[in-house]
Amino acid sequence: MTAAIRLDSTRLAETLARVPRSHELFVNGRFAPAKSGKTIERVSPAHGIKVSTYAEAGGADLDLALDAARAAFDNGPWPAMSGAERSRILHKLADLIEAKLDVFAALDTLEAGKPISQARGEMAGAVDIWRYAAGLARDLHGETYSTFGANKLGLVVREPIGVVSIITPWNFPFLIVSQKLPFALAAGCTAVVKPSEMTSGSTLLLGQLLAEAGIPEGVVNILSGYGPQIGAPMTTDPRVDMVSFTGSTRVGKAAVAAASATLKKMSMELGGKNPQLVFPDADMDAALDAAVFGAYFNAGECCNAGSRLLVHQDIAAEFEAEFVERSRKVVVDDPLDSRTLVGALISPQHLALVEGHVANAKLQGADITLGGGRLESEAGQFMAATVVAQARPSMAIARDEVFGPVATIIRFASADEAVTIANSVDYGLSASVWSRDFDTAVGIARRIRAGTVWTNTFMDGAAELPFGGFRQSGIGRELGRNAAADYTEEKTLHLHCGPRTAWWLPR
Ligand code: NDP
Repeated sequence: MTAAIRLDSTRLAETLARVPRSHELFVNGRFAPAKSGKTIERVSPAHGIKVSTYAEAGGADLDLALDAARAAFDNGPWPAMSGAERSRILHKLADLIEAKLDVFAALDTLEAGKPISQARGEMAGAVDIWRYAAGLARDLHGETYSTFGANKLGLVVREPIGVVSIITPWNFPFLIVSQKLPFALAAGCTAVVKPSEMTSGSTLLLGQLLAEAGIPEGVVNILSGYGPQIGAPMTTDPRVDMVSFTGSTRVGKAAVAAASATLKKMSMELGGKNPQLVFPDADMDAALDAAVFGAYFNAGECCNAGSRLLVHQDIAAEFEAEFVERSRKVVVDDPLDSRTLVGALISPQHLALVEGHVANAKLQGADITLGGGRLESEAGQFMAATVVAQARPSMAIARDEVFGPVATIIRFASADEAVTIANSVDYGLSASVWSRDFDTAVGIARRIRAGTVWTNTFMDGAAELPFGGFRQSGIGRELGRNAAADYTEEKTLHLHCGPRTAWWLPR
């Protein structure tokens, strides 16, 4: 039998020859192996061969990294530099990342299984974010109050919060660290960064560029390693002032609980179960295209995945039939092929979990109208675009984050019912509303409890626009004009000049 997915070994060999394959820890401006000598091997989820080896950081390495970040913050030049100088350095770093864009993209494709054309797009987006953050470094400012009388003045100044632990997941390895680190740096903070142990390559590669850009030693430290061993202590260590975490809601809650012992500031970007509401007067072609994109982009391994399609009953049959047709044509293939739209899932265990969600939906009475399981392949783990129809809002498939290429379709009868269903899950990250009617599009968008609501588009983004979740999708916002300010503390300076009115004068 012919394998459904054929992997091009020549293209793989050429790509492997262009990227670094072995990565050490980056601590205090230098690359070094882990103190234990241990390493982690990453097998390409698409090709089934070892593509990267990372040093496996343990407690001793974390200790050095936290000392370095603390010293660089407490005594180093970075927090005291002018915003203009930090901005210049961050712009230079953005240029250096851009010059290596293809290498960064290839690493994320090899380690995460995502399509190469998409990975390049993510890198271009990441570079744009670094440049936006570089601009914000010059725009951090506070407030003044000159309204307390002639001899008093109130100044509210912003100071960098200190050492930041940055913990990131595997699904957008370089894009997500780029939503955090440049803003922390723009504010004058120092950082210890822990990428997922499955996709650490691109984050470690960043370490090679820092000195050339002019980032002083110790300001950025990058450790590959496991969550329980180094992620957890990064949320509890007294040397850390703030934790910026992106990952699952389950681990996020544990991190918040752990960090509460030392009351660190927490920024949490967590999961989503994002509804796309399609009304009968929508531009059906555009809505279908966005629905297919939202369901299968990054193989559905995306916090923003539009995994819940809420479709008005008057158009549901037609919409579902066309959605299945388009889903059938989505190109699931070798992620190194530039025509591929959907690559491999991150691990065999994750593929089994996603298949389990679909099997459970079937048991609960939903119809699997397309796909449902793994695709045959020479290597790696690929899953078919999958459509779950006739789902009820109470089913697990309609409430839980699946994180795979699975679209769940739920029918609704009225706008009120659509809003109720949309708001009925624990998450509130994003949503979209499809209608040509202004009142429907804008009115419903206002009623949905989510951090981002698109109307007549889906998953558009811009560095200028804040991103984050309501409810169990997170705490705080990333990006936007307050993104650097988020990594600061406000300090009040209350100034007095001239004679002071005494509290008590001795007789
Ligand atoms: P996890 O929550 O499993 O892991 C996220 C990061 O936390 C990893 O680096 C992980 O390390 C680390 N970690 C694990 N245990 C701990 C701990 N006890 N304390 C501190 N850190 C720990 O998420 P995944 O990597 O599986 O990513 C997928 C999840 O991320 C999805 O649920 C998705 O919704 C969410 N996500 C949210 C986004 C958003 O912006 N809202 C964006 C992208 C993803 P290790 O890898 O070693 O386990």
